[in-house]
Amino acid sequence: MSKKIIKTIKIDADKCNGCRACEVVCAAFHATPKYSSVNPARSRIRLIRDPIKDIFLPVYAGELATAECMGRDKYILDGKEYEECAFCRASCPSRDIFKEPDSGLPLKCDMCEGEKEPLCVKWCLEEALIYEEREEDVEEEVKPDEIEQGLQSLLDKHGLEKLVDTLTRMSEKD
Ligand code: SF4
Ligand code: SF4
Repeated sequence: MSKKIIKTIKIDADKCNGCRACEVVCAAFHATPKYSSVNPARSRIRLIRDPIKDIFLPVYAGELATAECMGRDKYILDGKEYEECAFCRASCPSRDIFKEPDSGLPLKCDMCEGEKEPLCVKWCLEEALIYEEREEDVEEEVKPDEIEQGLQSLLDKHGLEKLVDTLTRMSEKD
């Protein structure tokens, strides 16, 4: 057993007005160098947005899915019908969100590692995002290496030669 801090962001979807400040700050924080650009495609939080139906749903990037699901889900809440897979957090081959725009690597929310508080929470003036921390006893577990997962998905998609070329080109830029 060991202690672990569990970080949670509660989403009060009824308070979200779709302003996209959370997307902007997340994209800027994860640019290289930090804050040098704002490309929402780089954000680890994305807005499912349909103003006509009054649907504004912030969704956080979660785990990588290397294959599409065989099924789809669709939610109707308070009479509002959300688009297919709207609540899904996966970086998945069936859609474009949660993929790094230059490399295609899967994106995952890292809770703004190194910051005192997640920046999307700080910038959400509507208080639709609420940050909480708690301590829990957890079993020791070996987590699959995230870099290896990302490289494997690129390898499957583009092949070894293209991947090596791209990594070589990127390392030459530094
Ligand atoms: S900053 Fe808050 S209100 Fe604006 S889109 Fe994000 S979650 Fe919604
Ligand atoms: S917690 Fe940080 S990394 Fe995660 S979505 Fe919010 S701004 Fe992005």
